Amino acid sequence: MKKQMIKYQSDSVGFVATMGALHGGHIELIKQAKKENDIVVVSIFVNPTQFLENEDLDKYPKNELADSEICKVVGVDYLFIPSANEIYTQDEISILANSKKSYIFEGYNRPRHFDGVLQIVLKLFNIINPTNAYFGKKDAQQLFFIHNLVNKLFLSVNIVECEIVRDSDGLAKSSRNIYLSSKQRESALSINASLIHATKLIQKNITNTKTIKEEIEKQIEKQIGKIDYVEIVNRNFDLIDKIEYANTIIVIAVRFGNTRLLDNVYL
Ligand code: AMP
Repeated sequence: MKKQMIKYQSDSVGFVATMGALHGGHIELIKQAKKENDIVVVSIFVNPTQFLENEDLDKYPKNELADSEICKVVGVDYLFIPSANEIYTQDEISILANSKKSYIFEGYNRPRHFDGVLQIVLKLFNIINPTNAYFGKKDAQQLFFIHNLVNKLFLSVNIVECEIVRDSDGLAKSSRNIYLSSKQRESALSINASLIHATKLIQKNITNTKTIKEEIEKQIEKQIGKIDYVEIVNRNFDLIDKIEYANTIIVIAVRFGNTRLLDNVYL
């Protein structure tokens, strides 16, 4: 891979960064990028620097053939599948995600996870040079850090936030869902159900976040999942006491055996 920017002849380039094992969530991002850009580039790279040593880097699902086929069918113009050696050298430059907020929630048990995310996202932006980059709201904290990266470094890419895509029963699509047993999968429906319940309570003007959080926890705890966290934050990822209209995200992580599922709702 030459270390130079790719030059496109078209006006706009839409970019979707993925770790592969593509599913309906990724496809929606790609479709939106297709609608809004002349050219669409998808990357598949299971980024080692965002995994801790004991995590599932080696076991992360890979299906390059099926992924390529999906990209062809959906009309992706360029599929970028670099190797770790092409992306990283021995002496890397670190990108540090915002201090405290990268050590909470997703970062609590995964210190430096977001540093790795920002490192790869910045590299991919520099290689692909996109006009618009599409990210799922499913990874809300990641999205927060990516906005931060773009703002703080004055990057010229436009970040497009995409809605969470769910299976027909409400489970948020994820590459890791294949690891769930049928019992675990059934229990996992309590996550989205609890978010719907919370939304209804908020619509009834219950805006105390402690109450909402307890209601969510109660519903999930009836099932076999183990709650990692249920938190209610504003768009800046500060914890809040009262639901703020159009500025609140409820973020949830629940473990089912070794599989950890994320979900959230933007209010
Ligand atoms: P991943 O391959 O898991 O790194 O995800 C690549 C992109 O797809 C990220 O921007 C994710 O937020 C997004 N994504 C993953 N699952 C979903 C989903 N169910 N709905 C919407 N976006 C998703």
